[in-house]
Amino acid sequence: MFNQTDQMPVIRRIAIVGSGMAGLTAALLLREQHHEVTIFEKSRGPGGRMAAKRVKGGSVDIGAQYFTIRNPAFSAFLSRHAGDSFGPWSGRFGYQISSGQWEPFPQEARYVGVPRMTAITRGLSTAADVQAQTRIDSLVRHDRQWLMKDTEGESYGPFDAVIVTAPPAQARDLFSNSTLTALSDDIQDHVSHIQPCWATAVYFQQALEQPYDAMRCQNPVLEWIANNTSKPGRDDSGQWWVLHATPQWSREHENTSADKVSAAMVEAFQKVTGVSACPDEWISHRWLYAKSSSAEQPGFRWYDEHCIGLAGDWLSGGRVEGAFDSASGLVAHMLAD
Ligand SMILES: Cc1cc2nc3c(=O)[nH]c(=O)nc-3n(C[C@H](O)[C@H](O)[C@H](O)COP(=O)(O)OP(=O)(O)OC[C@H]3O[C@@H](n4cnc5c(N)ncnc54)[C@H](O)[C@@H]3O)c2cc1C
Repeated sequence: MFNQTDQMPVIRRIAIVGSGMAGLTAALLLREQHHEVTIFEKSRGPGGRMAAKRVKGGSVDIGAQYFTIRNPAFSAFLSRHAGDSFGPWSGRFGYQISSGQWEPFPQEARYVGVPRMTAITRGLSTAADVQAQTRIDSLVRHDRQWLMKDTEGESYGPFDAVIVTAPPAQARDLFSNSTLTALSDDIQDHVSHIQPCWATAVYFQQALEQPYDAMRCQNPVLEWIANNTSKPGRDDSGQWWVLHATPQWSREHENTSADKVSAAMVEAFQKVTGVSACPDEWISHRWLYAKSSSAEQPGFRWYDEHCIGLAGDWLSGGRVEGAFDSASGLVAHMLAD
């Protein structure tokens, strides 16, 4: 698919929508093969769901909590591009069984961005051309290439190929705005499997004593709580805890105010941990497209007749490492043809 001369691949221009782990992976792997790549990102900075919010004393990881590095190719990729922007989190992990008792999770190496989750995507993005605050609204055919049109009516390109790494609902909208009906139909089923998640971060001036730093809960409101301050490089005056609501509760409260949501989540936190103290500060964030529950995990999609690829966690296991696997699989496929 990429023309070759005897010496070097002909430089091809590729546009990527989204600068989360999938978009950055695709960009850096393609750049390693001398392709010219531009990433378009609707938010102010890179990272996507590897997100942190600024709070008193630093920041809290409001999206992805940690990631694994099981794939040796992911380890090699991070060594090449991420520098010292991440490190191991040796927090104590536990899960609650139906009786309400807690059990330790098996030991596994877990990693976080240092001093916040976004450090890693910031690190990766230094070698990528990221055009932030640019929401791509449609793709417009220009001879055999693509122009990227943003919501302000600005056009960019032309590009020889496009990789979309947005969550499925946003990818579907992009394709239907571009009259790529077959592509939007193709991912419709994935759209229906995306689950929301309410996240609330709470601050306690007085550190809490808990047997675990990260806990998977059996609770109708909360599925996960973690002591953000136990991660490396975080400010340790007081404690920030991150609470994630269950998909079902988040769906039922999709339109509830952040104040009411945080109050209900704090009450559930007190019940789960036995803590009676009230937090001194809190902040909530609603993720409309948090995780995928789809059983269909093709890894990636490549539409040869359009030169359009799709990558993202929702095509490959639904986690940070899945986003890497998806994007690296797509790039390998594109380069192999
Ligand atoms: C609450 C929560 C907790 C999680 N916990 C964990 C965890 O502990 N461990 C783990 O491994 N994973 C976790 N995850 C999942 C993890 O965050 C994702 O798997 C991973 O970050 C997905 O990366 P991605 O690049 O596929 O997508 P994203 O990070 O979503 O990146 C997509 C990017 O596309 C951009 N975009 C979308 N539409 C457009 C457009 N039209 N134009 C321009 N830009 C666009 C978005 O702004 C975004 O930056 C969690 C996720 C959430 C929400």
